[in-house]
Amino acid sequence: MSRILIIEDEISIAELERDYLELSGFEVETENDGERGLSRAMEEDFDLLILDLMLPGVNGFDICKQVRDMKNVPIIMVSAKKDDIDKIRGLGLGADDYMTKPFSPSELVARVKAHLARYERLVNVNARVNDIIEIRGLKIDKTARRVWVEGTEKTFTTKEFDLLTFLAQNPNHVFTKDELFKEIWDMESIGDIATVTVHIKKIREKIEVNSAKPQYIETIWGVGYRFKL
Ligand code: CA
Repeated sequence: MSRILIIEDEISIAELERDYLELSGFEVETENDGERGLSRAMEEDFDLLILDLMLPGVNGFDICKQVRDMKNVPIIMVSAKKDDIDKIRGLGLGADDYMTKPFSPSELVARVKAHLARYERLVNVNARVNDIIEIRGLKIDKTARRVWVEGTEKTFTTKEFDLLTFLAQNPNHVFTKDELFKEIWDMESIGDIATVTVHIKKIREKIEVNSAKPQYIETIWGVGYRFKL
């Protein structure tokens, strides 16, 4: 169930909004003070914020800015003054929508639903994209633990896959063999840093056109390896 936080100092309005949203199946919390509202918006996980502009403590303007710096949660800003709405819209604070009071509760519910649906799509798309690393012709699916080179799937052992993924996730960073060994192999593992060299060689044979002139994993002589972006 989606959780919504209403930050509104006019208690009758906050309650009206809450009642309508609860009837539509949302879980709703209200705060009547800017400071309390801000700290809850920052500390708790809400799926959407309904934020009044003029508030005691911290105003909606500052709350919007601070929350947006930290979170992608949809924010609907409301104000009694049309002029204020125009002003804050012009400032590009990162609110997703603006409503002038008084508005019909059903209009609010409709907008809340639209923003929640849009946000959910966005989060899902990001989650899918984040599971795939694509660098030039190399594609790594972290969830499925599969690797393609120029469209052809290659088979990797567990450690080869972990090592390649670790390097690809931290491109342009030079890692020593020691650091890579500690990162990929368990501490109790029998072996030494020569294991890293052997695995890098095997990975190169699978992903590089010419292992002698690697396009992906570069050797930094005397230091270690770096994944080239
Ligand atoms: Ca107010």
